[in-house]
Amino acid sequence: MEQILIKHAQAIVTCDEENHVYHNCDLLVQGPEILQIGQGLKGADGCRVIDGTGKIVYPGLVNTHHHLFQSFVRNLKSIDCPNMTLMEWLDKIYQVFDHLDDEAVYYASLTAMADLIKHGCTTAFDLQYCYTPYTGTAPIDRQMEAAAALGIRLHAGRGTNTLPKSKGSTIPDGMCETTEVFLQDSLRLIRTYHDPGKFSMRQIVLAPCQPINCYEETFVEALKLARSEGVRLHTHLGEGETEVMVARTGMRTLDWCEKIGFVGEDVWFAHCWDLNDQEFQRMARLGCGIAHCPEAAMLGGFPILPLKRLKEWGVTVGLGCDGSSTNDGSNLLSCIRIGYLLQAHHSKARGGCVAAYDLLKAATANGARLLGRSDIGSLEPGKAADLFLLDISGLEMVGTSHDPQNLIGRVGATDHVWMTMVNGRVVYENGRLAGVDETALAEQGNRLCRALLERIRAF
Ligand SMILES: [Zn+2]
Repeated sequence: MEQILIKHAQAIVTCDEENHVYHNCDLLVQGPEILQIGQGLKGADGCRVIDGTGKIVYPGLVNTHHHLFQSFVRNLKSIDCPNMTLMEWLDKIYQVFDHLDDEAVYYASLTAMADLIKHGCTTAFDLQYCYTPYTGTAPIDRQMEAAAALGIRLHAGRGTNTLPKSKGSTIPDGMCETTEVFLQDSLRLIRTYHDPGKFSMRQIVLAPCQPINCYEETFVEALKLARSEGVRLHTHLGEGETEVMVARTGMRTLDWCEKIGFVGEDVWFAHCWDLNDQEFQRMARLGCGIAHCPEAAMLGGFPILPLKRLKEWGVTVGLGCDGSSTNDGSNLLSCIRIGYLLQAHHSKARGGCVAAYDLLKAATANGARLLGRSDIGSLEPGKAADLFLLDISGLEMVGTSHDPQNLIGRVGATDHVWMTMVNGRVVYENGRLAGVDETALAEQGNRLCRALLERIRAF
């Protein structure tokens, strides 16, 4: 089996249970997995040797919340998150989403995943809920195709909206599906793509988009199907919808989820900034995790999660960049730094702050736990060779090397990484993505995006 040996890395930050950091160390990869970490390692004949001098090796980042298709609706003047309420924003973006087709989803997904890879992300979770008259049920098939072309792991969340605007939601009637169509397609996707095995490159998650935009039966049936098929569950929760839920059901959203059973160790929720302390503690007892999206919260002007208390209460918090209609970029390295700075900003009022390293752990080990993966998220022999290298040999990084665990959050290493490896395969190096014609893909993506936006006049 093919081997790759990273020699003389300045540091290897493992993010393992004991938080080991190794200095001036080697890491040997064989096939998809890490074989050894130590000094003086030697590879077999034909082993590719990578000089790690001046580089830090980190576990590949795990993104726990995204909407890849939204890459074609970013940097639009007409979508001004800070000056819109959640309901106004939803109303506006769906007018754009309504026009997307499979080809747009494919190129938008390539764009977002390229951004993720170039910033050290090796596993993408996506919540795909954009089903329009032009897409049919093919978007996740196209996303799987895009992920395979780039070589990134993809956990695809099959989302849906079933409650149309005419019945009180924010979703255009043409973008709603029936629960039955959603379930049939979910089962097809599970049968076609879901691989629960070690080093799996693709999995399916059932992820009805939002409690306020679906019928209750959609969530109940998604839950039944997911539990019978052994796949995980995800949705948006506590992102400003609470008032609508209380008016409609008489219950806060977490209460409603608990009532129907949409809670447990196989469930994680995006955002959760609208929850109170009692609800956070209940989340810990129920085993539910949170995908924290600090940049999206900032852009929307929303409260920032109290990570120190969540850690004390035992809630597993992963990190997400969120879709491009609330972030405009898919840079998870940046989310580590922004996430840490926001915690620091609130530290005096909240009686302390987590470490910058806690944000890195959220983006690695915790993210893996949310996705139910024990084979990724840390650098250890026997785990998948998912990693990235940062070059800290430049003048601008002088004086930063003594604390590699906190470096990304505190110093801010948010530029492109030096190299990204997924499952033992180098997918990004020398400033280029491996295995694809990046220039041609970018040109075609830009052409499609321009044509779409001109058609709907969405600038
Ligand atoms: Zn979202």
